[in-house]
Amino acid sequence: MANKSYNAFEMAQAQFDRVADLIGLDGATKDLLRYNLREYHVSIPVKMDDGTVKVFRGFRVQHNDARGPAKGGIRFHPMETIDTVRALAMWMTWKCAVVDIPLGGGKGGVVCDPHNLSMREQEQICRGWVRQLARDMGPLRDVPAPDVMTSAQHMLWILDEFETIHGARLPGFITGKPVGMGGSLGRTEATGYGVIFTVREALKELNIPPGDTKASVQGFGNVAQYAIELYQQIWGKVVCVSCWDQKDQTSYSFYKEDGIDLGALRGITDRFGGIEKDKAKKIGYEVLPGEAWIEQDVDILIPAALENQITKNNVGKMSDRVKIIAEGANGPTAPEADNVIKERGIFLIPDLLANAGGVTCSYFEQVQSNMNYYWEKDEVLGKLDTKMTSAFNAVSELAKKRKLYMRDAAYVIAVGRVAQACKDRGWV
Ligand code: NAD
Repeated sequence: MANKSYNAFEMAQAQFDRVADLIGLDGATKDLLRYNLREYHVSIPVKMDDGTVKVFRGFRVQHNDARGPAKGGIRFHPMETIDTVRALAMWMTWKCAVVDIPLGGGKGGVVCDPHNLSMREQEQICRGWVRQLARDMGPLRDVPAPDVMTSAQHMLWILDEFETIHGARLPGFITGKPVGMGGSLGRTEATGYGVIFTVREALKELNIPPGDTKASVQGFGNVAQYAIELYQQIWGKVVCVSCWDQKDQTSYSFYKEDGIDLGALRGITDRFGGIEKDKAKKIGYEVLPGEAWIEQDVDILIPAALENQITKNNVGKMSDRVKIIAEGANGPTAPEADNVIKERGIFLIPDLLANAGGVTCSYFEQVQSNMNYYWEKDEVLGKLDTKMTSAFNAVSELAKKRKLYMRDAAYVIAVGRVAQACKDRGWV
């Protein structure tokens, strides 16, 4: 987010352009899809706990809604930019299309640092954000969800304000709500589990038993923790995780040769996914520099922190043993690094496919909210597995058939579906 030499939106457009040429998209459709349909910039005045008023800047971007209402999270981050939000909105369109759910793409953000805000101040930001946008969002238009540094509690505040404005109960407006307040069982696990459903399928294709594999993970937040949970259940071993250290303003990696103990690490991790390094040392972890996660001698790498993390500077440090990269985060791989991964023949599971479990479960939540009838957790996770597995198979079959890189194959399917919807509607 903070890197000046990197622009997420330009990267998203470059990825799109390559696929648009590959599938011979006509000029008008290309022109429509490489930009966002709508974007909103808002200012949110908040009375702070010390009595002063601070104004926060926020965004909502709706990239495309030809296949259904725009869908995408809202992030709180001190270095959030409109271009990051634009890119993430576009990626959401492709993600919903690749798993074939009837939703479009959107994304939101507020420039703020929850580490330095009380819960009351965060509540005011949530309510202020939706007050500015309530006319332009809604269950049939644009449906937000949690993302980096926002939680079920933030979603409930946003929903409460939205329902107050509209004078009605509208639980389908937002997903990622607390269970018991319209949330779906399984939503917390969905993104991380979804990553591993696709890893499991990739291992099947490569004929490698999961129990023979080792992985290294960047991040230790929601996506990373649940990916690790399911990967360990299928007998994989995670030897390294990394996270951001708020106090030291840098990242660290935590290494354990015989495999990390997820429960113990969770016990010394804050709600932002930051591991307490002194406590980690005491329970036997080697604390290494932040980038060490990518250098480990493992079969699987799972970047699950932020965008632009595998770059031309560190891609060469990957071990020869790496066979699979599963992109838990959105946009973790910079284009130059992507070329190296492609040339090395590593089985890449691209972000739009690997981390689509979250939005798929959000869609299930919307369905349940609209019916006002809620499924058991096993039913939700079973449906999620079915959706993720069939999306994986479609992408991988196309990749084999047309000898495409997995990212390109996923894009060909996704962009093709959205372009067709725009055509069918008579937009282009
Ligand atoms: P989170 O806030 O719960 O966790 C983020 C983790 O990344 C934390 O452990 C943090 O310490 C770590 N981190 C931050 N900067 C880092 C750095 N420079 N080096 C190493 N670690 C760093 O976020 P999350 O919900 O787990 O999301 C992670 C990624 O997955 C984001 O790219 C997000 O957009 C994407 N994603 C999330 C979901 C979801 O359902 N939560 C769905 C799809 C995609």
